[in-house]
Amino acid sequence: MPMIIALDGPAASGKGTLARRLAAHYGLPHLDTGLLYRATALALIEAGEAPDDETRAVAAARGLALTDFDEAKLRTRETGQAASIVAAIPGVRAALLETQRAFAARPGGAVLDGRDIGTVICPGAQAKIFVTASPETRAGRRALELAGRGGGADYAGILRDIRERDARDSGRASAPLLAAADAVRLDTTHLDVEAAFQAALEIVEARRSRV
Ligand code: C5P
Repeated sequence: MPMIIALDGPAASGKGTLARRLAAHYGLPHLDTGLLYRATALALIEAGEAPDDETRAVAAARGLALTDFDEAKLRTRETGQAASIVAAIPGVRAALLETQRAFAARPGGAVLDGRDIGTVICPGAQAKIFVTASPETRAGRRALELAGRGGGADYAGILRDIRERDARDSGRASAPLLAAADAVRLDTTHLDVEAAFQAALEIVEARRSRV
């Protein structure tokens, strides 16, 4: 049976890194679903439109091509904030649903990370991990990442962004950030990348041996 691994969690929890590592380990394709919301938001920003303009946001989501992602522009703080605004629009989520399900249905399996993979996109995934870390730890990691990309590392501003996005992503009515009932929680606050990867691998292997 093809294996689907679903990782969900708040911004900068480490789920993206874990998803990439797991995908490499098992030889599976990986989709960072946050990029879809970020690309939708960026299309609006570049067209000078507001991220909460429902009609335009849905049109932008429908017009996305998976291949033309410019990660440098997509990973900025501004795009992240606008992404969490467009992501609260049910029509945007509906427009992006099929792309994600089609990716997950690849014959050999897939790894997807986001906010609603285990709950909405792939409720039948064999392995579901809900990755968390304290807001302060996440802000520290994001500051390092942004500095590495040549951006400013304003820790206080980043922590504010993270708290704001957590509240918006958890509080929205449509597919809120939520652990699936059958997800295993993995708190990475005190784990380095290698230790977190080993813990994630154990979770997946335990699930694999059950099927
Ligand atoms: O994971 P990342 O920080 O790149 O996601 C950007 C935003 O996209 C999140 O704050 C969230 O609002 C939204 N998102 C979502 N559902 C997903 C992935 C991302 O709502 N599956």
